[in-house]
Amino acid sequence: MFRKVKRKTDGRRNFDDRDTSFDTSFGAGGFHDDLAQYPHRLSFYKLPPMEEVTLEEFETWAIDRLKVLLEIESCSARSMTFKETEQVMEKLLAKYLPLNVPSKESSSLYQERKKDHYSHFILRLAFCRSEELRRRFVKAETTLFKLRYNMLSMTEQRNFVNSLDLPWVAATDEEISKFESQLYACSYASVRSLLRAGSASGIKITDDQVRQYLKHQTFYKLPFEYVPDLLAMRTAFLHQGYVYVGQFQQSSLILSEFSKFLKEQLDLTVRGLPGLDEDDRLVPVLNNLSKGYISAEYNDGGNFGNGEESEVNSENVNSFLSDMPLCMQRLMEGVSVNHHLKYGGRQQLAFFLKGIGLSADEAIKFWRNQFTKSMSAERFNKDYKYNFRHNYGLEGGRINYKPWDCKTIMNKPNPTKTEYHGCPYRDLHRDELLVMLGKLGLENNRSADDVLDLSNRGEYQAACTKVFELVNRDDIDYALKTKNGNVDQSSIVHPNQYFDRSRYLKKLRAGTVGKGAESQSGESQSIATQ
Ligand code: SF4
Repeated sequence: MFRKVKRKTDGRRNFDDRDTSFDTSFGAGGFHDDLAQYPHRLSFYKLPPMEEVTLEEFETWAIDRLKVLLEIESCSARSMTFKETEQVMEKLLAKYLPLNVPSKESSSLYQERKKDHYSHFILRLAFCRSEELRRRFVKAETTLFKLRYNMLSMTEQRNFVNSLDLPWVAATDEEISKFESQLYACSYASVRSLLRAGSASGIKITDDQVRQYLKHQTFYKLPFEYVPDLLAMRTAFLHQGYVYVGQFQQSSLILSEFSKFLKEQLDLTVRGLPGLDEDDRLVPVLNNLSKGYISAEYNDGGNFGNGEESEVNSENVNSFLSDMPLCMQRLMEGVSVNHHLKYGGRQQLAFFLKGIGLSADEAIKFWRNQFTKSMSAERFNKDYKYNFRHNYGLEGGRINYKPWDCKTIMNKPNPTKTEYHGCPYRDLHRDELLVMLGKLGLENNRSADDVLDLSNRGEYQAACTKVFELVNRDDIDYALKTKNGNVDQSSIVHPNQYFDRSRYLKKLRAGTVGKGAESQSGESQSIATQ
């Protein structure tokens, strides 16, 4: 995808052309491999990267970070608590942006930290382009920072904080004794829950324990505008424009510093963009990154309905309706009411059914059964059969088409009044959507309002994920208990992912999940950059 245009790239130093003879810091792999550049697992990203990376690294590192940030946004859109977000993000971070604890065996620490550093700065370039993008980026990055800060050990936290040159001073002993009762009152609830969390359940925390804990705390004094969230919760003492913050509230302080610093940096970055716009290799990547679309490629080993053990056939496909996302339920309803679907709907549903395991023969049977209720078998054979066989690569160019992901579905023209394709969360009027939600048992309650709000805000995949969680709540809870929380709760980005996840949860509950069936879906995600 990176077009090489001689005119514009003339004179640029290519990655492979670099002369390393003057730089003794280049290791055998061609890069400075010194972990001293990244002494801590966490970073404030103060200095931009200076080494060269390949275009492939540039793109894949940024995409991996974007996946993490989009999932954080999705958790927030689904009103998840911070604890729930932590559970969802733990696996995703380990997969896409790991920052492992130093150990004797760990040889990739430098690469992990480098990827984290570079991907942050690449996304700064992509997300500094408008006020809205900057706001989203700061919010998601700050949450990511908080998740990672909480993953650090106490020693790592202390070392990291000491390495920052932050504008706070320790309160004097006189100040602490003068405001002792106020500091105690403001800190009481936070310290109590902190001590409770650290002790065995059922143990009562006494006022004396809280006092003892506070006695050994360092308090910092800083201008009130640095910690608006602590003031809003009335958990810090304010006096003459200064707030007194305990060491145990340090993460709040650092987060506020981080988001303030990042906002300022994005404002500076945007000023440097005009120079970058001349680079025809990076701009298309950055533009696509800032669109932030995740496309998911569905892959069930390439079988797509030709696997030997498919549980779906033309007779029983309707019994899987409850496992299908709303877009597919709507198409199934459309075909059973009209005994026909227009082209867009036929393709969307046909590829989905192929993905859930309906073989080519069974698919022809299914569509013939439906269509011949409104037309002759001859007409079906003449006008439609070829199309369905073509979808399975049995005609024409013999391409094994993959099921469409949400992004592909939403990029198609919007449905007219007589069409059923598309995404209901985007295409249906509020009242129509409410009727569909009602059929899932979500009518007239707060949950339905949450879903409608997400749809109104344009967060269609978050609305879909929310519906999945509401409809499958019991199965998810069961899975969380039996799998010790090891359940994929990431955002839905593909209709077949929705289906697979639903089937997996039902089978888990029924005790029929096969050995080694750890995966909840066959999708693999990527960002569309073409
Ligand atoms: Fe279908 Fe995706 Fe829309 Fe869900 S978000 S209804 S899976 S298109």
